Amino acid sequence: MTDVPESILIDDIATLVTNDPGLGEGRVGTVEDAALVIEGGAVAWAGPRAHAPAADARVDAAGRCVIPGFVDSHSHIVFAGDRSREFAARMSGRPYSAGGIRTTVAATRAASDAELLAGARGFVAEARAQGTTTLEVKSGYGLTVADEERALAVAGRVTDEVTFLGAHVVAPEYADDPQGYVDLVTGPMLDACAPRARWIDVFCERGAFDEEASRRVLTAGMARGLLPRVHGNQLGEGPGVRLAVEVGAASVDHCTYLSAADVDALAQAAKRTEPTVATLLPGVDFSTRQSYPDARALIDAGAIVALASDCNPGSCFTSSLAFCIAVAVRDMGMTPDEAVWAATAGGALALRRTDVGRLSPGAHADLVLLNAPNHLYLAYRPGVPQVAAVWKDGVLAHGRP
Ligand SMILES: [Zn+2]
Repeated sequence: MTDVPESILIDDIATLVTNDPGLGEGRVGTVEDAALVIEGGAVAWAGPRAHAPAADARVDAAGRCVIPGFVDSHSHIVFAGDRSREFAARMSGRPYSAGGIRTTVAATRAASDAELLAGARGFVAEARAQGTTTLEVKSGYGLTVADEERALAVAGRVTDEVTFLGAHVVAPEYADDPQGYVDLVTGPMLDACAPRARWIDVFCERGAFDEEASRRVLTAGMARGLLPRVHGNQLGEGPGVRLAVEVGAASVDHCTYLSAADVDALAQAAKRTEPTVATLLPGVDFSTRQSYPDARALIDAGAIVALASDCNPGSCFTSSLAFCIAVAVRDMGMTPDEAVWAATAGGALALRRTDVGRLSPGAHADLVLLNAPNHLYLAYRPGVPQVAAVWKDGVLAHGRP
């Protein structure tokens, strides 16, 4: 009978964040003096400690906080090379442009499969240690058919949320023929990559792909069964949000520069059964010294806001969702509850997932025990490691309770 999974009671939780308003109080569904039962890799029960059912094993949370694992819906962790000097130069006054991506492309093409996989596994472990239990991973530093396909093969070894981003920038070989590169991305590259990905993405921005090219990339991917998501409105106002809403993308990411019409479009798109989420990437604006997106305006208008890392070697080399939460609260007008929700349930919506980002019965038992009495500490103690233990599918995956 050893393959019958035992049940585990996590007991004496001072604050349990469920993200289920039916289970607890407020936006993030908090239960105080709570307990949670894991069985078969899923949450079997969550609620007040006094009502907790019996279980085969007990973990003592000792008056600390449990939150859903972070759902990081945006990362670029399949790469090689180092751009720390570019960062230092930028901090000394040189502006960021989309073209710096080509530096990483050259290093990534030169790396072996084993090096790329070791790197990606390292970043997944690094993110896990900081509480991330679901991580989307994009291609986009290969920009040839073979290099994009192997990036997706590597991504598929470390996550189920794999995104084809051949349209990250125009490949250097096509500098004089951007149209020809779009033909490649929507033709032979898509043929090779579609079977390895769930998502199709495009960098719809000045210096990358314009509205017409972006629409071609997304619709070609959708015709092959991929689900659309968009990088847009990072460096200035533009067509990214409009296009994302038009094609029914799960998310439009960055949203640093939005017109009133963009905010309204995202508010309207939030009412759909399959909404378009506004995913904000505060680490990017921090690391490129841009202004921050107006999260308050988006939330007040009714848009759905997620927070993600955009972990990548150029514009934002952090994998810490706790850092993103702290910046969102300090500088983007989000309350701590809104920011924690956005990095968990919001990220899940941005990936069209209902089985992660919450801790109510039936969800994956992906959870984080914090060395803190409540989730407000994530923003209250910036830069301080507060993750005591992480469970993924009910199995202790990092730390010690
Ligand atoms: Zn990105």
